[in-house]
Amino acid sequence: MAEGIVIVGSSLAGLRSAEQLRSQGWEGAITLVGEEPYLPYNRPPLSKQALSDARTLSLESLHETVALGLKPRLGEVTWQLGRRAVSSDLANQRITLDDGQALSYTGLVIATGLRSRSLPVHGGESQRYRLRNLNDAWQLAQGLTEGCRITIAGAGFIGCELAATATRLGCTVNVIDAAPAPLVNVMGSPFADALLQYHQRHGVSFHLDTLIAEIAEDERGNLQTVALSNGTTIDTDILVEAIGSQPNTAWLDGNGIDITDGVQCQSDMSVPGHGNVIAVGDIARFNNPLFDDVCRRIEHWNIAVETARTGAVTLLSHLGDTPRTRPEDTKPIVPSFWSDQFDIKIQGIGLPSIADSTEPLDGSLHQGISDSSLFAMGYYRDGRLTGIISINGEKKQPDYRNMLLDALQTADTETT
Ligand SMILES: Cc1cc2nc3c(=O)[nH]c(=O)nc-3n(C[C@H](O)[C@H](O)[C@H](O)COP(=O)(O)OP(=O)(O)OC[C@H]3O[C@@H](n4cnc5c(N)ncnc54)[C@H](O)[C@@H]3O)c2cc1C
Repeated sequence: MAEGIVIVGSSLAGLRSAEQLRSQGWEGAITLVGEEPYLPYNRPPLSKQALSDARTLSLESLHETVALGLKPRLGEVTWQLGRRAVSSDLANQRITLDDGQALSYTGLVIATGLRSRSLPVHGGESQRYRLRNLNDAWQLAQGLTEGCRITIAGAGFIGCELAATATRLGCTVNVIDAAPAPLVNVMGSPFADALLQYHQRHGVSFHLDTLIAEIAEDERGNLQTVALSNGTTIDTDILVEAIGSQPNTAWLDGNGIDITDGVQCQSDMSVPGHGNVIAVGDIARFNNPLFDDVCRRIEHWNIAVETARTGAVTLLSHLGDTPRTRPEDTKPIVPSFWSDQFDIKIQGIGLPSIADSTEPLDGSLHQGISDSSLFAMGYYRDGRLTGIISINGEKKQPDYRNMLLDALQTADTETT
């Protein structure tokens, strides 16, 4: 039996929501429910340096290296860790946990994020890994020994980061994707082609425009080979499924809310029909007035932080507990991301993937991607800037942000 605000999902978006509620003046009870048995931690290092480090660390020590600090402003909160929400009754403001506890709430924050998708092909189960959480990373790390042959299904961010980390550890890395280049759906083809060549120069092998058709195992069930639809067979010790994620919404079934791909909510993060419920982070599918009225889920670290900030103001306004920030004064949510692959940092801002054309803004790709030169691509829809992706452009980020906001806010004024 809880009361006050219950936050389901005790990772980045859940923790930031609790902090923002406190910053906005909420002094009532906060309960954080989390399926994982750990205090909140940061996921991005799990495909990068922390994955290398994890080979020589205990699970507990790995958690310490990635744990998110608990800020003093969080004050007193109740943690229900190692507990999963299994059902909810939004009309009666109640959720049920896997140990049978029923928690009542006055306000609810949905922050249950995503889980990894699996390939629809069987075989070699004990050498197959995913990379979404701390346990996944620790288990995978134990197999990343020098000379190990690792096949990665999926050339998205996690697949590419893992390819770089595993190559650096002396593994032989093959990456498979149905697309013609890594991250092509985010970066567009000239940029993605250059990224492909950059990885290849570092020793990663790619098999593109193809799918995993079959996974062969020996008589003891150990993984042997991965066969592709283009006829190639790859000897494999470890297979990592990095083919994307799906939202954790099963516990919200039966409430009549739209959970077709995450939780559909408004641009202020409120869930339609339930003013005392907000959705934040990777699970939230919301429209962003800076761009258009299409609802999208955005799987970036900064979205967890920014939706928590907006959502806290919305929730407290609804609960009649005047937040310190007026809803009309909340800052716009500006998506941004970074990705570390070998010696480059890719940084993006805005929504490059909605663009219909691209134009280089800084540098050129003629010599390919280098470890030190700046390159930045502008992404345009109907001639208006919607996003910028750069490599080695850390110092330019404030300029790119201003450029993007100028373009988006000008577009806004012209259409109103
Ligand atoms: C390996 C990896 C690397 C990444 N690297 C980058 C990067 O470089 N840059 C970047 O911008 N972003 C990166 N991201 C994305 C970023 O980490 C996410 O956007 C962020 O973690 C989203 O936070 P969240 O709290 O919304 O969801 P999550 O972090 O997924 O947390 C959801 C939590 O809810 C819990 N939960 C689920 N169901 C229930 C339930 N029914 N009851 C209770 N608890 C439940 C889960 O166990 C989990 O702890 C990376 C993600 C991963 C996995």
